[in-house]
Amino acid sequence: MALQEIQSFFSGNPLDRADHLRKDAATMTGLLQSSEASFMLVLNGEILSDTVGAIYWLSYRQCAYLPVGTQIFLGLENGSPRYAAQLVGSEGEFDDLFPDAKFRDARALGMKAGFAQPELGIVAQAKSMLSWHQSHRFCAKCGAESTLVKAGYERQCDACGANHFPRTDPVVIMLACHGDEALVGRGPQLPPGYFSALAGYMEPGETIEEAVARELMEEAGVEATSVTIIANQPWPWPSSLMIGCTALVKDKKLTLDETEIDEAIWITRVQARAALAGESTDFMVPPPIAIAHDLIKHWVS
Ligand SMILES: [Zn+2]
Repeated sequence: MALQEIQSFFSGNPLDRADHLRKDAATMTGLLQSSEASFMLVLNGEILSDTVGAIYWLSYRQCAYLPVGTQIFLGLENGSPRYAAQLVGSEGEFDDLFPDAKFRDARALGMKAGFAQPELGIVAQAKSMLSWHQSHRFCAKCGAESTLVKAGYERQCDACGANHFPRTDPVVIMLACHGDEALVGRGPQLPPGYFSALAGYMEPGETIEEAVARELMEEAGVEATSVTIIANQPWPWPSSLMIGCTALVKDKKLTLDETEIDEAIWITRVQARAALAGESTDFMVPPPIAIAHDLIKHWVS
């Protein structure tokens, strides 16, 4: 049974992360070399996947001679250990090794499947963890190079003794609602005609609701009077948690922050339904892989 009402893409990770095993070096070595162990290969942020876009798992023996950099224990799937291994090199070097597989961006995996699947949760976990190791090689306290411990779930600095833990960055993404209309916007990163929910990183010292109200005021000049959390989604670029909300706002008058928002429009449920179905001639909204799609769908329903 899913824990959350809205099953977004990259949610529903089926792995038991087995934190209790991570400190036990002998157990970890046994798991790593067991015939049950499977490895996901990641190259430059892309995941080795099969012809239908599922993770292309390899055995310990198949990985033994590959140029692997960082390797982390993801957890247990029905008791069998799963790992993510960062390949060192360029994509072309490995083409002949896996003729029936391809390195794909995590978005492409989601789009290829066309529906939310638990495996994408494993992809999000692996991609975010490997990216964290890549960008946190050095101790934030003293600057010395740190080492990977707890099978990838911690970095330790031998010079000053500091411990560093994987991070997740919360982002609020919200639909401002007024009467029968909702607000969608387009930043410079989106092509003309394409609108999404407004979004922004949470700041230290604020609640989710306060972050939503601040972002709406900063980006669109609208004042939120109440905020409801609807859904949330791991988003592995590089390691965000998208927190999807709706917010009732006082009035519809917009004052856009033109450095962040090129255009914003109020849409009706009829217009949103057509856009979700890909049948609108006026504008497009994000595909099902993005939580903005779930938010608009929730609002329409
Ligand atoms: Zn240090």
